[in-house]
Amino acid sequence: MNLQRACSKCGKPAFYFKPYSGEYLCKKCFVKSIYELTLKAIRKHHMIKYGDKVGIAVSGGKDSISLLYIIAKFFKDNEIVAITLDEGIKGYRNEAIMIVNDMVTKLNIKQATYKYKDMFGYTIDDVQSIRRETSSCTICGTFRRRGLDMAAKELGLNVLLTAHNLDDLVQSYLIMLFNGDIGKITTFSPAIETSEAFGITKAHPLMYIYEKEMSIFAYLKGFKMQTITCPYMNQGIRSEVREYLNKMEEEHPGLKYQLLNSFIRLKNKNDVISGGFCKNCGWPSKGNICQVCKTLQTLNINKLKV
Ligand SMILES: [Zn+2]
Ligand SMILES: [Zn+2]
Repeated sequence: MNLQRACSKCGKPAFYFKPYSGEYLCKKCFVKSIYELTLKAIRKHHMIKYGDKVGIAVSGGKDSISLLYIIAKFFKDNEIVAITLDEGIKGYRNEAIMIVNDMVTKLNIKQATYKYKDMFGYTIDDVQSIRRETSSCTICGTFRRRGLDMAAKELGLNVLLTAHNLDDLVQSYLIMLFNGDIGKITTFSPAIETSEAFGITKAHPLMYIYEKEMSIFAYLKGFKMQTITCPYMNQGIRSEVREYLNKMEEEHPGLKYQLLNSFIRLKNKNDVISGGFCKNCGWPSKGNICQVCKTLQTLNINKLKV
């Protein structure tokens, strides 16, 4: 793309235009803007403090690989661990694990891989054959959240970072609204999740960055990324919400950013996860029995029927 415009920051030829801020950026200043937005989120929302032991959930996609790179670059004084969950999906996760291995070796970062099979007794391949009405994506999401909590606890982490970008977060928010999921809306925060299970802060440092810009960043940095998509992927309403938001953003530059800010302001910082702990497994839960235990109960019953 030849914009024949000068970079708003340094005057060199620009290659990218940010419609929502009106800035033209050259490649170097674009990369710098991604660093700045990530650091802004971390500082503004106190995501990482001195001495924190930081875990990063790394799936091998563009966002998590980029986040790992940025955190390794700017937080050399903190202990960092890359956490990868192996869902047990044949032909899918292996490529990603190789990509993550490469990156952690290059960055000289510790890595921990956990298998769903060891944590929950089921791979997602197993789940796919015995699940009933619940989609394997929903079950996988339930396992992923708990799996990361379990990993963080075992590794003795204070902070757990996930690579949700601005698009992911506003999509999630709208989906919660559509589902009338009031319990989640009041506890979900774009910056820091209030469910601080066992003293672990869960944060999203890429919250201010558009998905499109994360793709450009990963491309400019030449990162290897996962190419295979999950064979069970069924995004349902999410892909429609994504399309809708992209269309709205095109007509109203900055709309997604504005939406994110509305959600941040809606969120009462003092909200903590209500309720206590699951009677069955002891992990934090809004109800008497947590979502993980409910899911496992259903899977166990289905398995007996098969
Ligand atoms: Zn520049
Ligand atoms: Zn439970």
